[in-house]
Amino acid sequence: MEPGRIRKLDETVVNRIAAGEVVQRPANALKEMIENSLDAKSTQIQVTVKQGGLKLLQIQDNGTGIRKDDLEIVCERFTTSKLREFGDLTAISTYGFRGEALASISHVAHLTITTRTSDSKCAWKASYIDSQLTGQPKPCAGNQGTQITVEDLFYNVSTRRKALKSGTEEYLKVAEVVGRYAVHNASVGFTLKKQGESAADIRTQPNSTVTDNIRTVYGPHVAKELLELRCEDTNLKFTATGYITNANYSVKKCVFLLFINHRLVDSTALRKAIESVYASYLPKNTHPFLYLSLEIAPELVDVNVHPTKHEVHFLNEEAVIEKIQQAVETKLLGCNASRTFYTQALLPGASIVSEETEESSGTSNKLSVAKDSKDKVYAHQMIRTDSRDQKLDKFFSKPEMKADDAEENLIDKSQQSSKNEETRREIQLTSVLTLISQLETNCHSGLREAVKDMTFVGCVSPQHGLIQHGNKLYLTNTTSLSEELFYQILLTDFSNFGALRLSKPACIYELAMMALELEDSGWSEADGPKEELASYIVSLLKSKALMLDDYFSLQIDEDGKIITLPYLLDDYVPGMEGLPMYVLRLATEVDWDSEQDCFQTFCRETAKFFSIRQNSLPNDEGCERGWQWMVEHALYPAMRKTLLPPQHFAQDTTFLQIANLTELYRVFERC
Ligand code: ADP
Ligand code: MG
Repeated sequence: MEPGRIRKLDETVVNRIAAGEVVQRPANALKEMIENSLDAKSTQIQVTVKQGGLKLLQIQDNGTGIRKDDLEIVCERFTTSKLREFGDLTAISTYGFRGEALASISHVAHLTITTRTSDSKCAWKASYIDSQLTGQPKPCAGNQGTQITVEDLFYNVSTRRKALKSGTEEYLKVAEVVGRYAVHNASVGFTLKKQGESAADIRTQPNSTVTDNIRTVYGPHVAKELLELRCEDTNLKFTATGYITNANYSVKKCVFLLFINHRLVDSTALRKAIESVYASYLPKNTHPFLYLSLEIAPELVDVNVHPTKHEVHFLNEEAVIEKIQQAVETKLLGCNASRTFYTQALLPGASIVSEETEESSGTSNKLSVAKDSKDKVYAHQMIRTDSRDQKLDKFFSKPEMKADDAEENLIDKSQQSSKNEETRREIQLTSVLTLISQLETNCHSGLREAVKDMTFVGCVSPQHGLIQHGNKLYLTNTTSLSEELFYQILLTDFSNFGALRLSKPACIYELAMMALELEDSGWSEADGPKEELASYIVSLLKSKALMLDDYFSLQIDEDGKIITLPYLLDDYVPGMEGLPMYVLRLATEVDWDSEQDCFQTFCRETAKFFSIRQNSLPNDEGCERGWQWMVEHALYPAMRKTLLPPQHFAQDTTFLQIANLTELYRVFERC
């Protein structure tokens, strides 16, 4: 048989194969892009995906941006702003170093970059295929920072496309990457959402703490059982810091967040070593949550291993692992000892634990462990027989990553809410996006956490509620809370509202006349005749009808009648007695001239109208769904889910602490 002719592969094919090595799935590409955003000193990073990132993977940051002149070459291989000489390789402090990520992505997807530097008058937008610009960069509007859009990933690699059928599974990986970077970079605010959805699946605030973010991403159950870990060794030139769960906490699958020199990696060897310590503290087949940040002198890390960069090796791996293992053990022992003492004081004899209770009662009764631990052989005392154990595995190739409950929850949410993904309109107006980002920057992170966990206790009046958080009881101002909630919904669901049809169209002229009769309107002779004002209001609002209908589902007909109002929240109807004042204030309080101010003031006024007030009693008692029902079942649940409490809520009387149970208990103890 004739041997096959050896031919040189077409260059684009070579590039595509190489790119497939670097970018194996959406989460891979995302990781590279997050690292670029962090390198660019961003403090806000927003990720938006569609179909788990296969259809769309977008990342927006507020970092330094890319100079217009660099746009031409930024996607070429080995183009980087981060490395100039070979010597730099040994002292890398930024994440990227080989200038390969963007190039690779452009070979397997449609890539678009929109970016603006601080000294540029506008943003520039450029698209790429196979490392090359598809046309000259175009000027456009945009804030400082960079937005990278990756569409139709693997459109030209059918095998890879077929292998990654499930958007849900890819989404899980994407969420995992975002969640992990959010924990590790607590000073940066991260958001992850599915395109077209207003609620984010992950949202952390800038300037949070690591524990804040563990709570936000992995839930309060993990967060309340954390032990801080710190260990360093000057000889081995490494420092490890992090948080690990104590023996009260366990999950089905180990969750291990590992960063080496701030790069997300995975290490089976290290995980196994740590888990072997936990084996004697946790019930069988359960595992801890671990977050570790390992900093090793750059000259000891071999970063130049593989383009995927998940495999990182360092010198003295075994010795370092052993040190960390000891630190974990000391932590757990210390913690266990104090618990033993405490529990024994309550339950004498509890240290005699049978096999069964040990298994079923989880972790809290494992008092015998401390004594036995001397007999146990920990992994670090064992001799390793398999050299593969020493490898820092590729992060994404592990099948067991489905993992942890918190991460699983994300799938559930994605399945529930993906229904309307197709029909939603994406907000593109800079004005609205700016207002939304203001909500985020102005959010009080402590209050956000409290609101998320609050328990609704009851209504004092339509205006006031009682909530419990931790062991504190608060009197809440439901009016201002609901106003803020509706204001935020109006912005985040912008142009996606359903319509609330009035049973009878409401004549704006009559409403305006009614409002002018009210003392609250502040009308005086000097304002001119009421009829004239009312006619003016009708013509003003009619002239805005198209926009109001399109963006807010506020429909006004030819005759100047309101047909529909926006439908802002399921199971909630505003009190209609506020409608006359609302119409009047739309004319007097809304700034119709500048786009951003217009949306802001319009949303504010609409939110005021929707907020629950003293006399907004849509139904009297006896009716099935009166105001109390709406407050409990519509307003407070929605606040828990999405409300970003503005800073001033921490100072004003929105939350008034009226009791602290620990103090109460102390009082009782004295009696
Ligand atoms: P590397 O990060 O290894 O340098 P990449 O291909 O990931 O290579 O990125 C190429 C270059 O593009 C970077 O060196 C950087 O100058 C620029 N860049 C990429 N993403 C961003 C971003 N989000 N903000 C600012 N610059 C960026
Ligand atoms: Mg990079």
